Amino acid sequence: MSIITVHDLARTYNQYKRLTISNDWRKKAKCIGEDTNVFINEKRENEATVFCSECSVREQCLAYSIQTPNLAGTYGGIGENTRDRAYRIYLGRNK
Ligand code: SF4
Repeated sequence: MSIITVHDLARTYNQYKRLTISNDWRKKAKCIGEDTNVFINEKRENEATVFCSECSVREQCLAYSIQTPNLAGTYGGIGENTRDRAYRIYLGRNK
């Protein structure tokens, strides 16, 4: 799987906002049992992004983070600051 950039996310933001998320997506998470510090430490976002690129539920995880306000950390390979930047770009394009 490829890595999602901030501009990829801005372009597809609406799709993630509307994506229906299955109830059991977390059971398939590649990060189960992994060091959670990778996903909450902003300095390790690149490491998390690469790790998440191989996860089978990345899209649902990313959609969850977009549909859940004020969520901290990396979800679907995208850290909170990158999500915020993508959201601002998305808003700017949809005025
Ligand atoms: S995309 Fe990343 S954070 Fe989300 S479930 Fe998969 S491995 Fe975990």
